[in-house]
Amino acid sequence: MLFLDLDRFKIVNDSLGHCVGDRLLITVAQRLQSCLRSDEGDVVARLGGDEFTILLSHIQSVDDAIRAAEQIHQVLKSPFNLNGYQVFTTVSIGIALGTNGYTQAVDVLRDADTALYRAKEQGKSWHIVFDSTMYDRAVALLHLETDLRWALQRQELRVFYQPIVSLVTGNITGFEALVRWQHPQRGLVSPSDFIAIAEETGLIVPISQWVLRESCLQLRQWQLRFPEHKSLSINVNLSAKQLSQHNVVEQINQILQETNLAPSSLKLEITESAIMASPEKAASVLQRLKALGIQLCIDDFGTGYSSLSYLHHFPIDILKIDRSFINRIDSDGDQWVIVRAIITLASNLGMGVVAEGVETMDQLIQLRLLECDKAQGYLFSQPLDSEQASALLASQPFF
Ligand code: C2E
Ligand code: MG
Ligand code: MG
Repeated sequence: MLFLDLDRFKIVNDSLGHCVGDRLLITVAQRLQSCLRSDEGDVVARLGGDEFTILLSHIQSVDDAIRAAEQIHQVLKSPFNLNGYQVFTTVSIGIALGTNGYTQAVDVLRDADTALYRAKEQGKSWHIVFDSTMYDRAVALLHLETDLRWALQRQELRVFYQPIVSLVTGNITGFEALVRWQHPQRGLVSPSDFIAIAEETGLIVPISQWVLRESCLQLRQWQLRFPEHKSLSINVNLSAKQLSQHNVVEQINQILQETNLAPSSLKLEITESAIMASPEKAASVLQRLKALGIQLCIDDFGTGYSSLSYLHHFPIDILKIDRSFINRIDSDGDQWVIVRAIITLASNLGMGVVAEGVETMDQLIQLRLLECDKAQGYLFSQPLDSEQASALLASQPFF
């Protein structure tokens, strides 16, 4: 069973209209038919939208199925002339073999579809043969998703706080809020294991709102309890999905009001790739957040593939230098030069800098020589729960 899906079909529909889109589907279907071995009883079907399935009967081995997929990529290579437009298209293909001991047709379709999904993930115009680890992974992801839906209601999420330290005074100037999931069976789950799936399912929106409210409340509490830390601020990560929400600014503003926190105490961290996912939309959201008095940071700076020209188009206050540049700054001359260039760039653009992932004293010494403003990392502290973070605030500065 071959499960096919046209790559970027939506772009054809959206730009050239549905009539051209329909013509494309018809022409693709004709080319697919030309790949069938009618004497063997092969069948092609359009499942819906831009999805096609092909049932190959009487094949000897997986190689025959792969050859068929390669032939399909080949016949779709030449351009399509549709109502005066020339269009190119490619397909991704998932392959499931009947030798897997299936008892129901829908299971074959499901597995071919799973393989298709993997083919899409690995770049378009590709084909992949299903194997059972894909099924296990899909089931594990589904469980994770179901559990995550409950996590908020069951109050299993926790916010941890990692101090951000002034390299001039050694004082804690603020914390970055980092979410954790206290899973009843799996223990403390790191955000890298669930943020991506939360993004994909949209659960990131309620999760982020909860994280933001929780951390604003916590910061307000600290500001009141430790008057000597009244200018303490909180950094909260903003996801790409949130940036594309039409009412994100209103929601953030509402949380600030409810928690009675000054907007200037909040710093939102955004990655370059989140901004570049839709730059115009991001520009408008960031301008409005800025107008509220919130500060904006670029997270993991230097790891995106975007051009630097965006920096002065967006109202950015702080660059957070990615950990990958910091971790060899004491031994690798090239890394040192890059960090120096970022610090100079930030300073010339009137922005602050925070070095992420500082782990050793040598790294700290280099950063101080480079006159980097602030740093965070295991050298100072791991992310802490709120009680441990309170204890840290009550103690002495770092140096
Ligand atoms: P990030 O925003 O770049 O956060 C910094 C990550 O680096 C944290 O990982 C932190 O624990 C880790 N880190 C800090 N210092 C060091 C160090 O010295 N050495 C090393 N090796 N690592 C260090 P964490 O907490 O696992 O978070 C991973 C990512 O998940 C974050 O990267 C952020 O992108 C995302 N994330 C975490 N919480 C949230 C959240 O509430 N919302 C959203 N949207 N994303 C979040
Ligand atoms: Mg961050
Ligand atoms: Mg970061």
